[in-house]
Amino acid sequence: MSSAKTAAVIGAGFGGLALAIRLQSAGIQTTVFEKRDKPGGRAYVYHDNGFTFDAGPTVITDPDCLEQLWALSGRRMSDYVTLLPVSPFYQLCWEDGYRFDYADDQARLDAQIAAKSPEDVEGYRRFLAYSYELYREGYERLGTVPFLNFGSMLKAAPQLVRLESHRSVYSKVSQFIKDDHLRQAFSFHSLLVGGNPFETSSIYGLIHALERKGGVWFAKGGTGALVAGMVRLLEDLGGRLEVNAEIDAIDASSKNATGLQLKDGRRYRFHQIASNADVVHTYRDLLRGTERGRKNGRALSRKRHSMSLFVIYFGLKTTHPELKHHMVLFGPRYRELIAEIFKSDGLADDFSLYLHAPSVTDDSLAPPGHSAYYVLSPVPHLGTADIDWAVAGPKYRDRILKYLNDRYIPGLLDDLVTVRHFTPFDFRDELNAHVGSAFSIEPILTQSAWFRPHNRDDVIPNFYIVGAGTHPGAGIPGVVGSAKATAGLMIADARA
Ligand SMILES: Cc1cc2nc3c(=O)[nH]c(=O)nc-3n(C[C@H](O)[C@H](O)[C@H](O)COP(=O)(O)OP(=O)(O)OC[C@H]3O[C@@H](n4cnc5c(N)ncnc54)[C@H](O)[C@@H]3O)c2cc1C
Repeated sequence: MSSAKTAAVIGAGFGGLALAIRLQSAGIQTTVFEKRDKPGGRAYVYHDNGFTFDAGPTVITDPDCLEQLWALSGRRMSDYVTLLPVSPFYQLCWEDGYRFDYADDQARLDAQIAAKSPEDVEGYRRFLAYSYELYREGYERLGTVPFLNFGSMLKAAPQLVRLESHRSVYSKVSQFIKDDHLRQAFSFHSLLVGGNPFETSSIYGLIHALERKGGVWFAKGGTGALVAGMVRLLEDLGGRLEVNAEIDAIDASSKNATGLQLKDGRRYRFHQIASNADVVHTYRDLLRGTERGRKNGRALSRKRHSMSLFVIYFGLKTTHPELKHHMVLFGPRYRELIAEIFKSDGLADDFSLYLHAPSVTDDSLAPPGHSAYYVLSPVPHLGTADIDWAVAGPKYRDRILKYLNDRYIPGLLDDLVTVRHFTPFDFRDELNAHVGSAFSIEPILTQSAWFRPHNRDDVIPNFYIVGAGTHPGAGIPGVVGSAKATAGLMIADARA
């Protein structure tokens, strides 16, 4: 390939960085432009008073999909970042006192299931086998191939029908497992990629197999250390990252994308352009100068978007070794609460939380004798509930911290030394996320695969999408998979 080919990637999320690494490894001179002062996107990092807080992803699954990025150039990920195993994967807690250690240990899982609901031991085994089938079809076979035309969808259809992908995650789990707590334990996963377990395709049941097969990992020093490792790899390969470099517009016609205009007035030309930014922002705002951008921006803004999140980052002057690294704290309601998060125009009185307690695994994230945390609550996005988060945010933060203090972390309110929060307004304003969605377009069957925005634009032939808004979707393995699909197209097009 001619070394004169150049590419730009808008946004330094996991998808944008993985794409840039793949392009640069193939000899395409690649520059990433990131609006914020640090790379990572959802995986931003805050440093407050000696604490390190990962802003977003903390559950690292399928480390192989990351290792591949280093292997492309004969390097090893372990020379750049260390992954630590997390055990149990999660601890799940309910208000009635029941706890389930979701472990990577068949005997421990079986013993816990048998103690709770003996008839579900066999059902769980059948669910696991089903999850592995979903994994092979939905992740290994289809997860990194672009769906550019309807024919590709038709080819996949028989398998999707056989696996009953039209049914929801929860309904399939319920077919195998009878106990109410255990149904929640094996169905909540789709929430991690923005999917409502009662509506998202059962294909997302593959996440269970993904975790069982590849494990759950944590990057030493936090997810930010993994992002830093990816940036170092990109730069070692000769690629470039520019931070504080917000793109204002993509120079394009319906035939061609030619370059980028930055907010600070700079302009650059490239042979190929890919966007890792939110898909509605990309088409509606960055491609506003083209009919394609205006039309597709309108169409995408009308799609169903995933819920938002309210996240609190806090540091304590004590440690809590009794906590587990990843904890899911179920509230009193499951189905009803999730329905309200996806559909109601207000904030529910109760909540279900994910608590991240990384100091349990890695004591470098807080000063000696201290510990770092974040807690997140799924909340409606701004198109569903028009909440003024400037007013509601501090009150909601206080309610959640009090709940944790009363139930899970005694002394939290007295030991608090630092706290900050991130609301749907921040997803909208900091990350340019349409309606403040945390995971982009909702992963329902009619918005998946070919029905999702394509990895290469249908009209502008040298313009591409990477990240949560394209195939296969959100989550680190998803967006890193999207980078493989998009890079395959860009490299082939550059060689044509
Ligand atoms: C709180 C939280 C917890 C999560 N936990 C997990 C987890 O544990 N495990 C997991 O696998 N997944 C998790 N996810 C999901 C996962 O983080 C995301 O799906 C994934 O990181 C999104 O990556 P992306 O490549 O789509 O880019 P993003 O992270 O969305 O990055 C896009 C980048 O584009 C930039 N940008 C936007 N507009 C412009 C512009 N005009 N010019 C320049 N730059 C621009 C943004 O600033 C941003 O940096 C979590 C998400 C959140 C929010």
